[in-house]
Amino acid sequence: MTIYNFAAGPATMPAEVIQQIKADLPSYNDSGMSIMEISHRSALFEDVFQKAQQDMRDLLKIPDNYQILFFQGGCTLQFTAAPLNLANKYHKIALLDSGHWADRAGDEAKRVGVKVDVLDSTKADHYTKLPVLESLPADTYDYLHITTNNTIEGTAYTNLPETGMTELVGDMSSNFMGQAYDVKKFGAIMAGAQKNLGIAGLTVVIVRNDLIGKVKDLPSMVDYQLFAKKESMFNTPPVFAIYAAGLVLQWLKDQGGIAEMERRNRQKSGLLYDFLDNSDLFTAPVFKADRSLTNVVFVTGNPEIDQRLVAQAADNGLVNIKGHRSVGGMRASLYNAMPYEGVEKLVDFLTKFEKDYRGLH
Ligand code: PMP
Repeated sequence: MTIYNFAAGPATMPAEVIQQIKADLPSYNDSGMSIMEISHRSALFEDVFQKAQQDMRDLLKIPDNYQILFFQGGCTLQFTAAPLNLANKYHKIALLDSGHWADRAGDEAKRVGVKVDVLDSTKADHYTKLPVLESLPADTYDYLHITTNNTIEGTAYTNLPETGMTELVGDMSSNFMGQAYDVKKFGAIMAGAQKNLGIAGLTVVIVRNDLIGKVKDLPSMVDYQLFAKKESMFNTPPVFAIYAAGLVLQWLKDQGGIAEMERRNRQKSGLLYDFLDNSDLFTAPVFKADRSLTNVVFVTGNPEIDQRLVAQAADNGLVNIKGHRSVGGMRASLYNAMPYEGVEKLVDFLTKFEKDYRGLH
């Protein structure tokens, strides 16, 4: 039975990439050594590293005045690193509270002494829609932090908030490379790799040159300037995760790039949302205009039915559709590597489940 993995992250990877890893694993490029065994300073790895960065720059059309930095520590560490590096003038940031990860980002900023003003929150609506930026006073905040895609709650920004002269910082972890955004609109972007860029252990930061190097003597492992200067090799980088990301980036190029990924993600999520909107049993609670292309949240309203559904889905090869504990219900993550057939299978299964349920009630 084919398994379709709808996990939110670590998440499904392109089958071709897994095959390539399998082929490469014992001896990378006929070196007689596994990629896991070679030095991060070797010519072999240098090629992997440079190609991954260049492919990312090409795919996302990252201008030359932006750095691409590779960190460890997950996106969570960037909730600390971003304010440490970037909140250096007003020591104050603005936040749109769109859910769990935005809230976490605010929390971590406060821990390093940065003031956080929540300009809008949709908590009262259970985060079923996105907060809106009404106005942003100039010369007040170092930046506005947003979560472009809310992995848990299933919302995503299609139109970015207009921040005027204030920098925009985006946590793009769960729709990085899956939805096309204009990098130039951001001062900085952060994203964990384990959803759309491969495996856990690597976090990407894309940051405009003029924003870094303003704070002296930051702890080395969160210092954007130091990582830029050392080309992300200040210490041993996550070699295997960078190699895997490189394969995913090549796969993305082969598939037609980010616009094509977004088209497919719209098609996949559209298929599922259309089904849910026409169902008498299931509801997609997220406000239509704010719906995520990569994380589709749905409920029946009855936790017992949800539980039964999640178990039956798994029996049918449709695994990891249980919703996050804070939201309940179900969540199907439809990242780039999820094929259209997987979503078709899910919709077929949900259709049958609903029919059977109706037959019993
Ligand atoms: N931001 C978002 C939007 C996420 O989905 C996640 C992880 N699911 C994180 C941040 C935290 O990432 P990490 O676990 O890599 O620290």
